[in-house]
Amino acid sequence: AASKETLGFKTEVKQLLHLMIHSLYSNKEIFLRELVSNASDACDKLRFEALQNDALLEGGADLKIDIHFDKDARTVTIEDNGIGMTRDDVINHLGTIAKSGTAEFLGKLSGDQKKDSQLIGQFGVGFYSAFIVADNVVVETRRAGEDAANAVRWESAGEGEFSLENIEKAERGTRIVLHLKEGEEEFADSFRLQSLIKKYSDHIAIPVFVQADAEEAAGEEGEEAKAPEAVNQAKAMWTRSKSDLTDEDYTEFYKHISHDWNAPLTWMHNRVEGKLDYTSLLYIPAKAPFDIWNRDASRGLKLYVQRVFIMDDAEQFLPLYLRFVKGVLDSNDLSLNVSREILQQDKQVDSMRSALVKRVLDTLEKTAKNEPEKYQSFWDQFGEVLKEGPAEDFANREKIAGLFRFATTLSEGETENVGLADYVARMREGQKKIYFITGDNHAAVSTSPHLEYFKRKNIEVLLLTDRVDEWMVSHLADFDGKVFQDVTKGELDLDELADDTEKDQQKALEDSHKDLVERIEKALEGEVKSVRVTSRLTDSPACMVVGQYDMGGHLRRMMEAAGQ
Ligand code: ADP
Ligand code: MG
Repeated sequence: AASKETLGFKTEVKQLLHLMIHSLYSNKEIFLRELVSNASDACDKLRFEALQNDALLEGGADLKIDIHFDKDARTVTIEDNGIGMTRDDVINHLGTIAKSGTAEFLGKLSGDQKKDSQLIGQFGVGFYSAFIVADNVVVETRRAGEDAANAVRWESAGEGEFSLENIEKAERGTRIVLHLKEGEEEFADSFRLQSLIKKYSDHIAIPVFVQADAEEAAGEEGEEAKAPEAVNQAKAMWTRSKSDLTDEDYTEFYKHISHDWNAPLTWMHNRVEGKLDYTSLLYIPAKAPFDIWNRDASRGLKLYVQRVFIMDDAEQFLPLYLRFVKGVLDSNDLSLNVSREILQQDKQVDSMRSALVKRVLDTLEKTAKNEPEKYQSFWDQFGEVLKEGPAEDFANREKIAGLFRFATTLSEGETENVGLADYVARMREGQKKIYFITGDNHAAVSTSPHLEYFKRKNIEVLLLTDRVDEWMVSHLADFDGKVFQDVTKGELDLDELADDTEKDQQKALEDSHKDLVERIEKALEGEVKSVRVTSRLTDSPACMVVGQYDMGGHLRRMMEAAGQ
């Protein structure tokens, strides 16, 4: 039954559409990249499902993307013979935004267009970008394996609602017709479409064909009709050699797999042969996605086996503290039947994971050394995530710690730009420990009376103000053989730093203040464990310290705040 119904977009779609259309107006041509990207994903998915059920191919295994246009009618059509969609798929994918936390996130937008458009970039543009150039979009689709009569037509002007009706569609897959807005007719042009495909979609592994211009087609009349040629390379990009690929190729491929509008910070492309045989192409994004702290956020690599797409978000190849890494892994060893469950117990996966972790850490190290500014921007985006490393990956903890950057008493302002290697290199003679203080913010820690002695002695102290810091340091224990010491804890071994006169002075002070200490101890009985004469303070008369093995003040306040 050709039941036609009209449904409303989810609120977040409306908001996103509005913002997107305004913030992308100067870059409107990217709609083609997005629609071709989806068509390519749909072909990948069909090929994967056909591994189990080749009836889905319906006798046609040549996957392709066709682009047609009609200048007079002002339309551009993008058609694929991929997996297609059922009526439910259409409602779920072209009426809502699946990403968890989206509504919440959109609720936080400021209304300041400039700021918001930067945030919105984390979403990936996707299907809705069609409405940047079109005032009416028609999607006709049939899921592979379904009867021709079970196809659907989706139609919308992008303004709050869309209609759905059942139609007949002989060929499986999806056809998207864009009715271009007035003024956008430039896109109904063969040359323009071809150059956009070359620019944005050259890396797509499925061949993309573009209709020829009318004159061109007429010229060919009478001549022997040539088989049309794909406009793109139509080859899995990671199988091509590095020397054959440009930065633009890498950048466009990143956008295809990552849902990020921004160019990546850097990438690693490697072919490994030998005991294991695989190719990896890993990217470090320039900007953290809005859901980096969301437990359910998707993470992991796109997994291929022998060039066949297997799954998105294969999480087993990278630890959580590297969850910001995006990319593709193409294995020649794994089975085409591999599942998430199998990946969890596979020895080869463990080896690949270790190798990938090493590759990422090495690349970060190299960037830190050779391009400190670039590294700093990485740290500002992902430092807090990387700090989960020592707890999760004990074996690599020293290497990870080497990548950390901190604000210190000797660095200027709040910028976290001092590495532990720098710290160790400028430790004072006789200094054996790495000193740190934790607190809620820079102002609070940098003015703490606990630092007076260190300032006087010109001893550097790390100023740790991230929530995870105290926990992170407790897993780190030491760096380069130097243990970490909280300056607010226990009896500081300042003797190691004191010269002989200071030691004598301290002794003399202790002797002459014995009575005073006893009296204070009595007065505070039950409130404090002990009272000591200290060399820690220079300006303040007194301060509280916690025992060496007690919870630090920062962690304690956090626990108390959490009701524990
Ligand atoms: P994304 O590609 O990031 O998932 P999009 O907005 O581009 O987001 O697309 C949303 C969803 O719509 C896709 O995940 C897919 O399920 C579906 N879709 C879009 N285009 C096609 C297509 N040509 N064939 C099949 N499904 C599609
Ligand atoms: Mg998409």
